[in-house]
Amino acid sequence: MIVKQIWTGNAYRNFNYLIACPETGEALAVDPLDHEKCLGAAKEAGWEITQVLNTHEHGDHTGGNEAVIAATGAKLLAHENAKDKIPNIDRGLGAGDVIRIGKTVEIEALDTPGHTMSHVCLLSRTDTPALFCGDTLFNAGAGNCHGGGHPDELYHSFATQLAKLPDATLIYPGHDYIANNLEFTLDREPDNARAPELLAQVAEQDPAEALVSTLGLEKEINTFFRLHSPSVIARLREAFPDLPDEPDEKTVFIKLRELRNDW
Ligand SMILES: [Zn+2]
Ligand SMILES: [Zn+2]
Repeated sequence: MIVKQIWTGNAYRNFNYLIACPETGEALAVDPLDHEKCLGAAKEAGWEITQVLNTHEHGDHTGGNEAVIAATGAKLLAHENAKDKIPNIDRGLGAGDVIRIGKTVEIEALDTPGHTMSHVCLLSRTDTPALFCGDTLFNAGAGNCHGGGHPDELYHSFATQLAKLPDATLIYPGHDYIANNLEFTLDREPDNARAPELLAQVAEQDPAEALVSTLGLEKEINTFFRLHSPSVIARLREAFPDLPDEPDEKTVFIKLRELRNDW
């Protein structure tokens, strides 16, 4: 499996992806908003885009579908429940469905509601797994829920699916928000040891050569995976004085998501 992360350079800071089979050169384009860059990158690599996949229905993820499909004849894949929101889906995806790319690549669809209620993440079946997580999980952050999602569902997707993946899992999010999100981590957990060094490292990075994190790293620097941290809980209590002595994970997650909305 070859992964090409494509930095769009737009105001929303989207990342698009090409996932290719090294044997056949067939490729799947994930959320190819910047259709010119995606088509150009495929051409340069000698790949043929045969499938387009939307992680969810938001326009900054679906906006390149038409142009890519017109140029390539690719099939369109998205969550089975997105069929009324994304036109012309060829294949609706449910939890556990397998997407094949060429001869060598197999990717599993995870049903991960929360950012929207029809959001899929993709998990590659490779020695080192790779997770394409759209707007569910960001580097050092979590997706918002005000475009058709729900924080209860987002917590559930994190706790029951994403947090259980191997620490070595490579994280490929839908946007470059890492620097801003690390500032949120430091606001919520001022004594986080890893976040300041990582922030110094990524502050000056070219998003076209972005750091690819792992789930293990996210567990160190992403507040939404640090729900038992005493300093996260102590800081949270300053904003929510009624917080119980030992708040459950879900309460901490949802309060953090609430604070992040206005941060
Ligand atoms: Zn979105
Ligand atoms: Zn987005």
